Amino acid sequence: MESAWDAVKALASGFATTFMHLFRKPITEEYPELKRQLPARSRARIILTRDPDGGERCVACYLCSAVCPVNCISMEAAERADGRRYAAWFRINFGRCIYCGLCEEACPTAAIQLTPDYEFCKKNILEFVYEKEDLLVDHQGKDPDYNFYKVAGVATGVADKGGHINEEEPVSIRSNIT
Ligand code: SF4
Ligand code: SF4
Repeated sequence: MESAWDAVKALASGFATTFMHLFRKPITEEYPELKRQLPARSRARIILTRDPDGGERCVACYLCSAVCPVNCISMEAAERADGRRYAAWFRINFGRCIYCGLCEEACPTAAIQLTPDYEFCKKNILEFVYEKEDLLVDHQGKDPDYNFYKVAGVATGVADKGGHINEEEPVSIRSNIT
């Protein structure tokens, strides 16, 4: 059981901390005159990036939209004549986004990325609805070399299916019904 002496010690310790802070030099950042450089992996404004060939990385797979906990991503998939998928339209409602970064984690093509750009306040909440043309940028963001269409579905020549390290043999789908 806590004695009166313990309570006095706890109180004194709290006051001592307050007292010490009275003599510390305050740290005041003069925003917006002084803008702090945030780390590259900070999570703020979202962009849609392009691959090193300049093509849109997004293949409209809906994974980001499925994983988003607040349902603020929507899109419609379309297909080019050569079979490559893309988003006919892509929309993010930043008024709902909580900048959790799950969309970026889920994206198989490194298309959707969060950036350190935190300066996009608006008075009208409807202006927080960003369309594809607002999101699509002309660079590769944090993954300058990754090109999904150069690696996905491409034979590596290293081993057959099931032959890679820690990879299991392919399962015969017929084994489920016999
Ligand atoms: S950062 Fe989180 S809340 Fe925002 S769009 Fe991505 S998954 Fe949704
Ligand atoms: S941004 Fe990424 S996860 Fe979202 S639809 Fe496009 S490719 Fe899929």
